[in-house]
Amino acid sequence: MKYVIIGGCIAACGAIEGIRSKDAEGQIIVIDGEKRGAYTRPLISYYLSDPDRYTDIDYRSPEFFKDHRVEVIKARAEAIDRSRQILILDNGEEIDYDRLLIATGANPVMVPIPGADQDWVKPFYTLGDAEQINQDILFAREVVVIGSGLIGMKAAEALHKRGLTVHIVEKESHILPRQLTPGTAVFMHRNLAKEGIDIIAGDEVAVIHPEHQVELKSGRILSADLVIMAVGTRPNAELAVKSGLTVKQGIVVDSYLRTSDDNIYAAGDAAETLNVISGQPEVMALLPHAHREGYLAGCNMGGQDTRDRGSVPMNSVKLLGRNICSAGAAGDEKGELLTWHDNDQLLEIQVRENYLIRYIAINMPQVAGPLTNAIEKKILVAAGDWQEFMEVGPALANIPPAYWQELRRLEANGSN
Ligand SMILES: Cc1cc2nc3c(=O)[nH]c(=O)nc-3n(C[C@H](O)[C@H](O)[C@H](O)COP(=O)(O)OP(=O)(O)OC[C@H]3O[C@@H](n4cnc5c(N)ncnc54)[C@H](O)[C@@H]3O)c2cc1C
Repeated sequence: MKYVIIGGCIAACGAIEGIRSKDAEGQIIVIDGEKRGAYTRPLISYYLSDPDRYTDIDYRSPEFFKDHRVEVIKARAEAIDRSRQILILDNGEEIDYDRLLIATGANPVMVPIPGADQDWVKPFYTLGDAEQINQDILFAREVVVIGSGLIGMKAAEALHKRGLTVHIVEKESHILPRQLTPGTAVFMHRNLAKEGIDIIAGDEVAVIHPEHQVELKSGRILSADLVIMAVGTRPNAELAVKSGLTVKQGIVVDSYLRTSDDNIYAAGDAAETLNVISGQPEVMALLPHAHREGYLAGCNMGGQDTRDRGSVPMNSVKLLGRNICSAGAAGDEKGELLTWHDNDQLLEIQVRENYLIRYIAINMPQVAGPLTNAIEKKILVAAGDWQEFMEVGPALANIPPAYWQELRRLEANGSN
């Protein structure tokens, strides 16, 4: 069997491990379009804040590909000829495949704001981007970050640590709109503002002037030596579109991670997969999901026949010393919101019909495990028990006993 994987990063590494767990002999070829190979994209902000940590960001050891007997071709895939089962590379080479995986990730969205085409307006998505910005800031003092999602916030934190004055402009009413609710965002906002980061929420960049001025829709003008555009990402599904595979928000896959062509699979940020909470396919663009989907796709390409159980959007991030863990249904307003906080810690949970559907924990990583489990495994716990948990103080020791009982029952039934 000949396996070809397009992309050489997170989902690809998962797929290699999955294929090799089923097929020790088959040929595996990776088409890697990125100079650096497999690295942990979320860590590029650590590189930017402290370039000496550069060596820490490998996703797998340098021997990984050799140890798994994988041939890596440094090129970009340009087209898939599905009728001949051939992949065409940008160097003109043609590679045949029995099973193909599209693990091409996502691209940063660059909004065509007037002035955004100037060379001091940059994305922050690859290690190459971080290296470039590292050069650009040698003589910079002030930076505007457009967008306060995970990527924007990490860029802002890194640049703040490098001593720049940082302004974050967020068009939604609060920062980290996919991770936080308005209430929990206020808590983070206050903490970040205390550190000296200027957060401007509910406003938008209107024009980026060549005189190094950023004009907002409200009329406010910010000075900037550098602008980072971090307004979101879009699945890199171009190859799939060109070759006639079904693509909606991302590449459409079935529960075996197969695309509309039985010999072609897709995983990671390029694909849309089941969100367990909403019950809908979504592009979740998160690293653990990319690896897990890649692994499962690899197993299935290697002859296994296992369905993807789907994922719960979840994340854990540390920003300026504050740890934020969250999981569940962002933007779903149904259900009861319960909040507990003291000066440094905050927990907000959302309960609907005796099921926990979301939580946000700031500086409380100790409760993240059971709460994530409760959401992911749909553990039935009476709403009143969750209320009591929040009232007595949401410590690990106060997790409702019903949670543990139900967890043990599910485990005994083999449902987990
Ligand atoms: C700054 C930053 C912070 C992040 N923070 C978090 C976080 O806190 N938590 C979290 O869970 N996730 C985070 N993410 C997202 C996470 O990194 C992605 O979900 C994950 O990398 C997706 O893995 P992937 O393998 O699908 O795609 P990628 O890791 O993007 O890999 C895709 C690879 O395919 C290559 N490729 C694309 N097209 C072609 C082609 N035609 N031919 C050959 N190669 C091609 C690309 O160059 C790339 O190397 C962050 C991302 C960034 C950029």
